This record gives sequence, structure tokens and C-alpha cells, in this order.
Amino acid sequence: MTRDTPSSQVEVYGRSVQALVDAMEFLTLKAQRILASHGIKSLEPEKWYPMRGVLDSFDDILKQVGPHTTRAIGLAIPRNAVFPAGIDSFESALLALDQAYRLNHRGSGDIGSYRYQPTGERTGLMVCDNPYPCEFDQGIILALYERFKPRGSFVLHLAHDTSECRARGAITCGYQLKW
Ligand SMILES: [Zn+2]
Repeated sequence: MTRDTPSSQVEVYGRSVQALVDAMEFLTLKAQRILASHGIKSLEPEKWYPMRGVLDSFDDILKQVGPHTTRAIGLAIPRNAVFPAGIDSFESALLALDQAYRLNHRGSGDIGSYRYQPTGERTGLMVCDNPYPCEFDQGIILALYERFKPRGSFVLHLAHDTSECRARGAITCGYQLKW
């Protein structure tokens, strides 16, 4: 897979890397082995780890374990990673996701983004050009929905035109959301 890689100086907050281990449940040892093979040996929540090693670990998980697990890691992000205060709805969570992304990464380098554009009361478009896998970002969005969905909303429709997907070399993935 060819993808622009952010500066090797960028680091990821340990609490958000912890999502990767948490989501792999029965495969904790495998998760730890994959992280260790990319230089992340002992994971501590308040420490910072090279983004390059985290992204390489994601590549291994996608290839060796599969997209379902990649999505499960995304689902585990909102309960592990740092989020800004004041989120009280699914829409405000989507709008805050880019800030949360930046709170969990530090160092100089282009890490891409999560850009959310509301198009209606319960519709909008999320565009991701960060270097994480597509399924991971879908997992994060689903978890935010489960946590902040309004009363009377039972399902999140997430439409992704996969002809334009980072997994196929595109720069962005776009998700039409309706809930
Ligand atoms: Zn995609």
C-alpha cells in the first residue's frame, strides 16, 4: 500500500494505542507481539509512542487478522482516547473528532484530519484524510453514534463510496452519515 507517511517525529498518546490491545480481546498476546515488532514494547497509558510504529502495527493487523478487528479497534477509541470537553450530541462529537485526533497526537508533521460538514439536522459528510485505515475510522464514527445518539434514533446509515477509498490509493475516504 502506498500512502504518504507522516513525519517520524509524530507520536501517539498511549491511551489511544491501548484501544488496539483492548479491542483484540482474545488476541492480546498477538496485539502485544505486533506492537513490539514495531518498537512499542511496554505500553503505558500516559506515555507517547511513534506514530510510524502504530501505523505499521495497523497494517499488520489488517493483513494478519482482518478488517473486522481493525473496525473493533476504532470502536474502542472513544472509551480510551482523550476527547475535548463539552460533547453532548452525536453531531458535536463528529465536529470535535478532529480536535480529539490532535489531542492524541503530538510532534511536527502532517497527520491529516477528520473534517465533518453537517448537511441537515441529522445528516452530514465526514471526510478523512488521516493515515489510519478506513475500517478504523468507521469504527470510531459508529462508537460515537452509540454513545451520543439522540432519543428515537436506532441506526446510523454510513454510506461510503468505496471507489474513492484510501485502501485503494485515494487521498480521502468520504462517509455520508444519516441517523
Ligand atoms: Zn475508505
